[in-house]
Amino acid sequence: MKREFQQLLLDKGWDRLPRVLIASAECAPISKTGGLADVVGTLPKSLADLGIDARVITPYHRCVKDKYHDQVEHMFSFSVDQGWRSQYVGIERLVLDGLTIYLVDNEYYFGDKIYRGGIPEGEQYAFFTRAVLDAIPNLGFFPDVLHCNDWHTAMLPMLLRTQYGYFEHGRMKTLLTIHNIAYQGKFGFEFFRDLLRVEDRYFTPEFMEINGCAAFLKAGCVFADRLNTVSPSYANEICDPFYGEGLEGILSARRHQLSGILNGIDKKVFNPHSDPLIPKRFDKGHLRGKQACKESLMFDMGLQADPGTPLIAMVTRMTKQKGFDLVERVLDEMMGFDICFLLLGSGDKTYEKFMRDAENRHRGRICSYIGYNEELSHRIYAGADMLLMPSLFEPCGLSQMIAMRYGTLPIVRETGGLKDSVIPYNQYTGEGTGFSFANYNAHEMKRAVECAVGLYRDYHDIWEGLMRNAMGMDFGFERSAEEYARLYIDLL
Ligand code: ADP
Repeated sequence: MKREFQQLLLDKGWDRLPRVLIASAECAPISKTGGLADVVGTLPKSLADLGIDARVITPYHRCVKDKYHDQVEHMFSFSVDQGWRSQYVGIERLVLDGLTIYLVDNEYYFGDKIYRGGIPEGEQYAFFTRAVLDAIPNLGFFPDVLHCNDWHTAMLPMLLRTQYGYFEHGRMKTLLTIHNIAYQGKFGFEFFRDLLRVEDRYFTPEFMEINGCAAFLKAGCVFADRLNTVSPSYANEICDPFYGEGLEGILSARRHQLSGILNGIDKKVFNPHSDPLIPKRFDKGHLRGKQACKESLMFDMGLQADPGTPLIAMVTRMTKQKGFDLVERVLDEMMGFDICFLLLGSGDKTYEKFMRDAENRHRGRICSYIGYNEELSHRIYAGADMLLMPSLFEPCGLSQMIAMRYGTLPIVRETGGLKDSVIPYNQYTGEGTGFSFANYNAHEMKRAVECAVGLYRDYHDIWEGLMRNAMGMDFGFERSAEEYARLYIDLL
């Protein structure tokens, strides 16, 4: 055990590291729709290296059943009340790569999509909440800390305190991690009354009420013992009405119990030195391979320009959050800098149409690949010169970290995790790992792009220095895991 943890435990009067159960709607690699799954899949493995026994509890989704059913072991079953229905709960165990994952089985709720949307999704996760709490005493693993993630598991702390406090559950401490505050799980009071037996006295602004509804996430913000989010800057931002989505009041009141821990990336998966998905490998000391990656990418994507032309890329969900309004506003003007622009993403139909039209207007200079493509994303991180990420808000962001690892310099807006992970170029000291702009303004973004393009063209040595700085940054998950470990111990 690390000396530092020994001391922290001693201060708490504990003689062992905490046991942690991580509750989440998704967990990579078995079920994944976004970054949450990566965190939940990676964190317990890094915690294990620190000596912490952390396990995951997650729904037994159809996609998991299809792929892993022959590796899953049935543990026990029982039933829970969901409104007027009595529902079956099966608890299965899957051990993958040393990580124990408890799977909550129920075909009615988890027989198809991970997220059904609307009220059906609320029902899925109200059921999951109840199933987790009733299953815990029989898992043979009683956690000291229950680590909840996003709104889908944010009712756990409230039910624990208001309905399970007299049982041994009362010993558990809870941590709620907010990965994205924009999604809160808002439903009418009757939903919570019927499905989770929440008493009427909790439907007030001090507890669950928000704009005439009640929200899973608000309950978590009120009742969890500690709160954290996925970057220090985002932790500050969500205490402000611009970013707080109505939860800024409770979060400001609990600011001293709210921290920010930057996520990390899997350094083995994203490694230009060994990545099997890219045409030529490279590293900090041997950058030639990157040029070969760029040329092959440009050729395959139909970009017809001199290989020295700056190639700016985006790999992203196409939503307002990701700053597409700014791109729409000035993309044509930016093309005047004699660049190539490559987009991989999908999302809002209006943005998708905008990109297709832009591609037609700038044939051979803009390419948009609408869809999800893991292999292409690696080739883009390896082959592009710059990655544009002008987000309106960004809790953490992984794309900019991946880009830096491949020597692709990010151009970001200074918000959330982008602000915490990208060091802007300083023309006086030569320091930096990318470029940034402060305000959500299209012409500020354009100026940042112009500055980056100018440097790329005219100051090759400085550019290579920045690439090396970026590739030398350590965004591995080990650092995040240590911070989570400190937080768990602090909770005891
Ligand atoms: P968010 O989780 O908000 O979508 P992040 O930057 O945290 O944004 O993580 C996005 C992850 O998904 C990155 O690993 C990125 O490479 C990947 N990604 C996003 N869109 C696509 C796509 N269309 N094809 C392949 N990978 C994608």
